[in-house]
Amino acid sequence: MAKVSYPYEAPVSQALFDRASAVTPGGVNSPVRAFRAVGGTPRFMVSGSGPYLTDADGREYVDLVCSWGPMILGHSRPEVIAAVQEAVARGTSFGTPGEGEVALAEEIVARIAPVEQVRLVSSGTEATMSAIRLARGFTGRAKVVKFAGCYHGHVDALLAAAGSGVATFGLPDTPGVTGAQAGETVVLPYNDLEAVRAAFAAHPGEIACVITEASPGNMGVVPPLPGFNQGLKDLCRENGALFISDEVMTGFRTSRAGWYGVDGVEPDLMTFGKVMGGGFPAAAFGGRADVMGHLAPAGPVYQAGTLSGNPVATAAGLAQLRLLDEAAYETVDAVSAEIRTLVTEALTKAGVVHRLQTASNMFSVFFTADEVNNYDDAKRQEAFRFNAFFHSMLANGVYLPPSAFESWFVSTAHDSRAVERIAAALPAAARAAAEATA
Ligand SMILES: *Cc1c(COP(=O)(O)O)cnc(C)c1O
Repeated sequence: MAKVSYPYEAPVSQALFDRASAVTPGGVNSPVRAFRAVGGTPRFMVSGSGPYLTDADGREYVDLVCSWGPMILGHSRPEVIAAVQEAVARGTSFGTPGEGEVALAEEIVARIAPVEQVRLVSSGTEATMSAIRLARGFTGRAKVVKFAGCYHGHVDALLAAAGSGVATFGLPDTPGVTGAQAGETVVLPYNDLEAVRAAFAAHPGEIACVITEASPGNMGVVPPLPGFNQGLKDLCRENGALFISDEVMTGFRTSRAGWYGVDGVEPDLMTFGKVMGGGFPAAAFGGRADVMGHLAPAGPVYQAGTLSGNPVATAAGLAQLRLLDEAAYETVDAVSAEIRTLVTEALTKAGVVHRLQTASNMFSVFFTADEVNNYDDAKRQEAFRFNAFFHSMLANGVYLPPSAFESWFVSTAHDSRAVERIAAALPAAARAAAEATA
């Protein structure tokens, strides 16, 4: 039984990747795109339409990545494209306030009750970085609690996932982040309230905030256990810290009001990105008005951005959010459930031990028998089976996230034709997963 094989060639993508590798580190502008986890040639995409992507070699794929979440209406949705064209024709950036950013802020505030005020930025990384600065400025405290396996963008202080299972000071995950930058970060195991309680006891009056993914999707899909988010909120309140819910991935995806719309736990601050930009660089952080009031120019905590609230990006985001009514979420939830059933059936039929974990319409497959409640659990899966599965799906025209530790995403555009193509690709991929060896 062979290692993962690459069932077909992608010569145009390979040539582009060779060119890219000469001028860009690793040939990509964001590491996971390079296919290092799964091997093979990253596919360079040239266009997207509805649930489909077309690569530089002219192959079409059903897209189950959706740009890592943003394309919840599918690619090139006409109303979004029209809004962008209308905005771009009026100019691309003014460096002044504009009505589009007010309208987008109003839409966010209207959807998500805990957000009384919001500040627009250009990436999820900026949103979490700024929320943490604000939490520190507001509380006058230095330490930040995060959870292993939760990703909050490449903020220096948050690039610490640390070791396993024990409360520990963050050790930097990457060269270039100093001990001083990560040293105020306390990394705890996810879904473990006792560890959070112990951290507050160990650092009385020092913890500015607890930041968590509202429902994690960056170690595969690992939803919070019942009561976990509420417990975080309660512990923060008891200890004078702020509770920051990172909804960059879940916001406007897992429901009209994101994960807040699912579990109703009220954070002090929240962060958004992905869906709210409609495929453009737009993100945000927001929350309690008394906390947000500490931001410049209203207050002393500095934060700024040349392209923040960019008119084209806000037009795209607003157009997308306005199309995302209850019916749209019902569609996405239903197609997600349909695909999950097909995946489980195919893997079960091929005798592949697996767990399919779900958070609203987000889901991922873990190649393990055991429930996955934290990052250590996630890492115990047989990821090599995913790699075989991935390449078989790719060869049969289905584009999955190129890592076993990522959520799969669907859109309102995934119609029965797209689902049938996924169904047709699954049996061979399930067999490839069954036959894979480490
Ligand atoms: C994607 C993501 C980020 C980072 O957003 P960028 O726009 O890539 O900087 C932060 N937090 C979570 C939960 C994310 O999924």
